[in-house]
Amino acid sequence: MLDTPHILLPGPTPVPERVQQAMLRSMSDHRGNVFEPVLARVYARLAALLHVGNAGRVAVLPASGTGGLEAAIQNFFQPGDHVLSVETGLFGKRFKEIAQAMDIQVETVAFEWGQAFDEGQVLEVLERTPVKGVLLTHNETSTGVLNPVETLAPRIRALPHSPLILVDSISGVPSVPFNLMQSQADVIIAASQKGFMCPPGLAILGLSGRAVEHVLKDRRGRHYLDLRPYLDGHLPYTPAVSLIYGLDAALELLDEEGEAARLARHRQLAQMARAFGEAAGLPPLVGENVTSPTVTALSVPAPLTPADLRRQAAERGLQIAGGLGPWHHSAIRIGHVGAVDAADLWGGLGILAHMVPNPLPALEAAFTAWKSPSPVFS
Ligand SMILES: *Cc1c(COP(=O)(O)O)cnc(C)c1O
Repeated sequence: MLDTPHILLPGPTPVPERVQQAMLRSMSDHRGNVFEPVLARVYARLAALLHVGNAGRVAVLPASGTGGLEAAIQNFFQPGDHVLSVETGLFGKRFKEIAQAMDIQVETVAFEWGQAFDEGQVLEVLERTPVKGVLLTHNETSTGVLNPVETLAPRIRALPHSPLILVDSISGVPSVPFNLMQSQADVIIAASQKGFMCPPGLAILGLSGRAVEHVLKDRRGRHYLDLRPYLDGHLPYTPAVSLIYGLDAALELLDEEGEAARLARHRQLAQMARAFGEAAGLPPLVGENVTSPTVTALSVPAPLTPADLRRQAAERGLQIAGGLGPWHHSAIRIGHVGAVDAADLWGGLGILAHMVPNPLPALEAAFTAWKSPSPVFS
């Protein structure tokens, strides 16, 4: 095996060469005339990509995605506030745990692993429980489910108490569709090492105009992660200069490909992975109508085990993810988020074909899905 593993992981994801090159740039004054225009361009491109609108803002924090979630909680809520956590897997639960660690009172509505949230049920809970905020997971990475945030959020916003809507889309945007303004959500949280095709280390937040107004003026309980200076694009402390150069190059690549082509690419990859799993004897764990464009969870029936599959794949130079939580011993997850194209996925499926019961039908099914992606899939 050569020293470059092929990764089909839901993070970290492959870093394109242009992004790698951009990060080699020499250090310069982070308030000087080399870095500042780059930062301004990054902020402008992010604002457009996340559709934050004229009154909205973005923030780029030196943190992994979880740091972005924590910053969001800290900047909008105080100990004693009530929020509703809507959970469809492990990452939804983590979002809640961050709030609980800050002594925020959390009501939970949880759905079974492999299901998307039910909008009616969430609204019903909210109608009888006025809360200050709602925590949603857009793309639940532990199960490979895409939740209908864009249809639920406007309905939450329209409730009489109109809670703030915080959305963990760390494994979602920009590989899955999201428009902050249209969705009427308030805060979207993403991270550099997933759809943004960079190494780990940056949390990216998009805030609605209403969210900008709601950022707490009282700074108690936070300092480094006080969002206000970040929102102005004047990064208050030494930023992750190299990562921001990388993000600048990645945003340029995203622009070049264009949104429609990018979203279609990820949908097609998801269809290929599902079709492969179905025919290989590794049935997908979630329904096609809720399947994520960026991560596919496949069940691994005995006598195969996820650990064996992953080890054998790794021996052949391919890294895939295991199951999490209740699916730890029964699932693998194939990531196709960020800079992954059909050639990359074909390489991975070819390696997996070595180990599954029905390799040739599986490759044929993936080929069919590749040639003619189904319009049903959204
Ligand atoms: C990856 C991920 C996280 C955690 O992000 P880190 O960058 O590892 O801190 C949180 N939520 C979701 C949905 C994720 O996919």
